Amino acid sequence: MNYSSAVSIYDAAIVGAGPAGTIAARDLARAGARVAMIDGSHPREKSCGGGVTARALELLGREAPCPDGCAIRSATFETDGNRAHVTISSADALMVFPRASFDAALLRQAVAAGADLVAARARAIDRSDGSWTIDSTSGPLRARWLLGADGPSGIVRKRVFRPFDRDQLSIAAGAFVDGVVSSEVVVRFVDDPRGYLWSFPRPDHLAVGTCAQATETSTAALHHVTDRWLRTYGPAADRPRRRYAWPIPSLSAQALDREKPGGANWMLLGDAAGLVDPITREGIFFAMRSGTLAASALRGHDPARVYAASIRDEVHAELRRATELKAAFFRPRFTRLLIEALNQSAAIRAVMIDLIAGRQAYAGLKRRLLGTLEFGLMMKLVRSQRHRLVEADQA
Ligand SMILES: Cc1cc2nc3c(=O)[nH]c(=O)nc-3n(C[C@H](O)[C@H](O)[C@H](O)COP(=O)(O)OP(=O)(O)OC[C@H]3O[C@@H](n4cnc5c(N)ncnc54)[C@H](O)[C@@H]3O)c2cc1C
Repeated sequence: MNYSSAVSIYDAAIVGAGPAGTIAARDLARAGARVAMIDGSHPREKSCGGGVTARALELLGREAPCPDGCAIRSATFETDGNRAHVTISSADALMVFPRASFDAALLRQAVAAGADLVAARARAIDRSDGSWTIDSTSGPLRARWLLGADGPSGIVRKRVFRPFDRDQLSIAAGAFVDGVVSSEVVVRFVDDPRGYLWSFPRPDHLAVGTCAQATETSTAALHHVTDRWLRTYGPAADRPRRRYAWPIPSLSAQALDREKPGGANWMLLGDAAGLVDPITREGIFFAMRSGTLAASALRGHDPARVYAASIRDEVHAELRRATELKAAFFRPRFTRLLIEALNQSAAIRAVMIDLIAGRQAYAGLKRRLLGTLEFGLMMKLVRSQRHRLVEADQA
């Protein structure tokens, strides 16, 4: 892309200024591009746990401090009747932020780099004469490139590709519980619907929620699971709650293969591209990473092809490994054995902390677990996953 400040249209218009859009805007503006981010929602909280892994914090960089984070020092994993407690000594393995603060820090970075924020909602997208016209609530805007970073239900994906089918989505439903302070994460594996509940501490409230595949549950059922757990969790039991529910892309391997991350002068980023780990539902890192990959591709030759290839080679490859483990991961037999292994082995606890931090990819997981020399525990875990850990390791 040849950046020229003399042109009357933007080099790139990015619809959505969440983690994906702001990182792309930041990196493009730093490279000298004229960039517009279209998003009228800030400042805003987003329905999200706000768990930000070490690998995502690295992409944020040191120059954009976000003051409202809680460093997580311990995690409790539980099922009905089983529980394991894991101490986290590294201060930056996992931070939890209110998304209002985290996304505001990213937005400040992008604007400081020179990107324009158009505080409006995009409502129609048209293409003619080799450029895009984005009609928003503050008027039309033209750009050579269109980047869709507007979440799982966004307008760009529908315009350039197709909406997600229901079987490619999870639902997460829960509540922000005000006035509860903690430094502990709780993860509870749930059998019905198959998924998990999380409690993430923020400076003055907890973000609690339950997620499961959309075709296997309903928002009401997930709220029921969250509410039932909150009644048993002492510090939260009588506190005021603000409820939320929101879809999360959770693609199968086949659905990933059908994805198209980029085409003629357009790219899809983050949730709009379905880039979420289908087991953990971690999406912030993948959104930010897609932003850096998009900006990098736009600096070179044949950007859409290069971007699509890098998403497939790097991000889809990792998400595909997660899809291979997913079916067996939430089986009661596996989660019970996992908790047993966490209770018995410091080495396996260390692997779990690296998984939480995003420092241990699914590739190499089996090799690393076997390297703990906890053969008895490991063989039980591997057998309960049948061949899936092996397949993920070889992929
Ligand atoms: C309940 C829940 C809990 C989660 N917990 C975690 C977690 O703990 N850790 C983690 O890593 N991931 C988590 N995720 C996933 C994570 O929230 C997403 O993957 C991540 O926010 C994706 O970033 P994004 O920039 O692609 O999209 P988003 O963060 O959704 O940002 C999209 C932006 O686009 C804007 N927008 C949408 N439509 C338009 C339009 N027409 N015009 C202008 N702007 C528009 C929106 O206002 C928004 O600001 C969770 C998701 C949910 C639902």
